[in-house]
Amino acid sequence: MQVLKFGGSSVATAENMQRVLTLAEAAARRTTTVVVVSALGGVTDALIEAGRRAAAADGAYREQLRQLEKRHLEVVRSLLPIAGQSAVLSFVKTHCNELEHLCDGIFALGELSDRTLDRLVSYGELLSSRVMAAGLAARGVAYAWLDSRQLIRTDARYGHAAVDFGVTNQQIQAAVTAAGVPLLVAPGFVAAEAGGSTTTLGRGGSDYTAAIFAGALGAEQLEIWTDVSGMMTADPRLVRHARPIPRISYQEAMELSHFGAKVLYPPTIQPVRQQGIPLWIKNTFAPNDAGTLVEVEPPANKAIVRGLSSIGPVALLRLEGSGMVGIPGFSRRLFAALAREQVNVILITQSSSEHSICVAVSEAEAARAKQAADTEFEAEINNGRLDPLDMESSLAIVALVGEQMKDHPGISGRMFSALGTNGINIRAIAQGSSEKNISTVIRQQDVRKASNVLHETFFEATTRQVNLVVAGVGNVGSKLLEQLARQQTWLREKLRLNLRVVGLANSSRFVLNEEGLDLENWQQALAGGQPLNLPTLTEQLLALNLRNTVFVDVTASAEVAACYAPLLARSVAVVACNKVAASSEYVAYARLKTLASDFNTQFLFETNVGAGLPVIGTLNDLLRSGDEVHRIEAVLSGTLNFVFNNYDGTRPFAEVVRQAQNEGYTEPDPRLDLTGVDVARKILILARESGQHLELSDIENDSFLPASCLEGDVAAFYEQLAVHEPHFRALYDAAAEKGEKLRFVARYRDGQARVGLQSIAPGHDLYALQGKDNAVLFFTNRYTEQPLVIKGAGAGADVTASGVFADILRAVQ
Ligand code: ADP
Ligand code: ASP
Ligand code: MG
Repeated sequence: MQVLKFGGSSVATAENMQRVLTLAEAAARRTTTVVVVSALGGVTDALIEAGRRAAAADGAYREQLRQLEKRHLEVVRSLLPIAGQSAVLSFVKTHCNELEHLCDGIFALGELSDRTLDRLVSYGELLSSRVMAAGLAARGVAYAWLDSRQLIRTDARYGHAAVDFGVTNQQIQAAVTAAGVPLLVAPGFVAAEAGGSTTTLGRGGSDYTAAIFAGALGAEQLEIWTDVSGMMTADPRLVRHARPIPRISYQEAMELSHFGAKVLYPPTIQPVRQQGIPLWIKNTFAPNDAGTLVEVEPPANKAIVRGLSSIGPVALLRLEGSGMVGIPGFSRRLFAALAREQVNVILITQSSSEHSICVAVSEAEAARAKQAADTEFEAEINNGRLDPLDMESSLAIVALVGEQMKDHPGISGRMFSALGTNGINIRAIAQGSSEKNISTVIRQQDVRKASNVLHETFFEATTRQVNLVVAGVGNVGSKLLEQLARQQTWLREKLRLNLRVVGLANSSRFVLNEEGLDLENWQQALAGGQPLNLPTLTEQLLALNLRNTVFVDVTASAEVAACYAPLLARSVAVVACNKVAASSEYVAYARLKTLASDFNTQFLFETNVGAGLPVIGTLNDLLRSGDEVHRIEAVLSGTLNFVFNNYDGTRPFAEVVRQAQNEGYTEPDPRLDLTGVDVARKILILARESGQHLELSDIENDSFLPASCLEGDVAAFYEQLAVHEPHFRALYDAAAEKGEKLRFVARYRDGQARVGLQSIAPGHDLYALQGKDNAVLFFTNRYTEQPLVIKGAGAGADVTASGVFADILRAVQ
């Protein structure tokens, strides 16, 4: 004995029904088989809508019923040979007539009771099961049609009636024995109360019908045939990489379905679980796929978390107040009041102080639930012992399910941290003491993102998707894109990171594509993008709500820097090569840091100092590990180092500066380098990272440039450099006489910082610096005798891009 259930999509068309007939026939050759069918896909919804329209005096229900009749007649005509059609065609017509009368009645009364609604929707399954039966007859298969309404006895809770198993089991056993054929067909979903009027078992209830049959008959197995190849690790409509779960326990399947896995109606488990009847979930459209086996104890496997699911929209109701403490009975009264109103409680949490109880209910039932609770506690609310009931809506529950979770510490930690680092705020948590599921209440709009993040965390340990938006595609930006393209495969294979660029911007356009841009062809995508508008870019990026997102700023723009705060506040990490933010007013810098830590994300700007050299990272490592930095001495300008390494009086100073500019080391305006302002910004950032609340104006700048060099434009600047050649020559000679070299040095000491030109003696760490090198010396508690020295090229697109790249990886790991 076995029971097979075919869902709405499996019987949606004549073609699908043929598949089902073939599967049913084959099954019946093996052992006696009961086939339970749903209504044709979409029919139940259409019937409900027709009824509601009729009740609302909207005559459009008639057309809707005509369409339903037409659909069924067409299925019959293409399913059956002409000779076999007439009986079932007239069955369809008579029943559609009845349907119309019923709806006319509803229209006349202007009222649709739950009882009438059940009567109305029962036609879906009555029709589909008759059509199926006629299909078997046409194939010459011996079968019997069973009327589930006469077999399944329920109470009179229309819409989601409760089964009387004593009566039901007996009636089913008797009917099947009496039928005496190997194949029986029965409508799902429908039943009747003791007085004989039709009831239904709840939306999706055909699964339950099949399980009731299986339980009553002590079947060898129950098979639920649907349109996916089993119960999956997540809702496939939300998570593209969801995959079928080969084996799962009854308990786990029940938890997953309770929290929204639509593939199985939650009550289905109970009748089969009691008798340990194996339950298979199979795909009508891919019958050879393995499917899912639901059983008592699936073999242990690596998957500690078996699956995840989500349900929404839900509302959270919170009952709170000092009057609750220590007084028994509040929870009982709350739940009794909700039960009276037939409100289904999906999740409960209670603070250990007993100050508050929180329940999640379907949003459709929320108003009723609040009303029930407010009425129950009216007296306490009036005398101030309880606060008025608090209700929050547009929420959803996302649950992780797995019986092995209880033996493995850290699952909830990983869950919360994965959600947290993606800016998904958790409003409530419930975890049974048996820890078969961990449920979180989040915003409904975050469900897709949360499901994907959790699926990646627990089921795709293999790869994690990282989404980058790169602002600025100049020297450094285009080098970065080149490096990303080159490393993509390596990162996927070695670090299991799927790094994608989902957005690009230059000074005139931007483009966003959540599927990721082709890095071989980004110029084209950007050219076809929208005109640049940074607030729009930010808004659209946030609306995509992608996981693991990093905004990369390789511009020098203050407007771009102004986007960081709103991004960080939504947990988008920011990697900046742009120095504007970190060297602006202290409060602005500090606020970005706070935002990053409050929203569990990263604000990184290693390349602000020393380009690709690991300066800020090293400083942070020293401080985090408890070292103390007393003094920093550094050469932080590639331009100035180049200039002083190349100037020896044989060529004019101005010419050497021009060469530095031509070779691309200087800022677009070389005065930013020559005046030492850029160096001051860098030592300011190091001082801030060391914990000092300094402003740029606190950095003393002993400029070596005569004041007249700062007047006018860049051309005038070069002219003035030429005029002051003797001044530069004198500086050089004074150093050369002592055998020393000129270096523009930034110093930080005990909370103070200054920058200026110095003459450095041989043997000093800053003496032997080539070309455009930078060097940073850290004098700390631990590096007492010799400083910690970081030295190397401090400018250049390639090294800067690789520093940005390193920050990106730091931000996502
Ligand atoms: P039927 O009409 O066969 O009863 P349903 O539509 O009720 O089918 O259920 C199957 C659908 O459930 C699938 O098409 C899928 O979109 C959805 N679903 C949601 N969560 C899951 C899950 N965890 N595993 C499989 N399917 C799921
Ligand atoms: N036809 C019913 C529904 O759509 C029952 C089912 O398909 O399981 O809810
Ligand atoms: Mg279903």
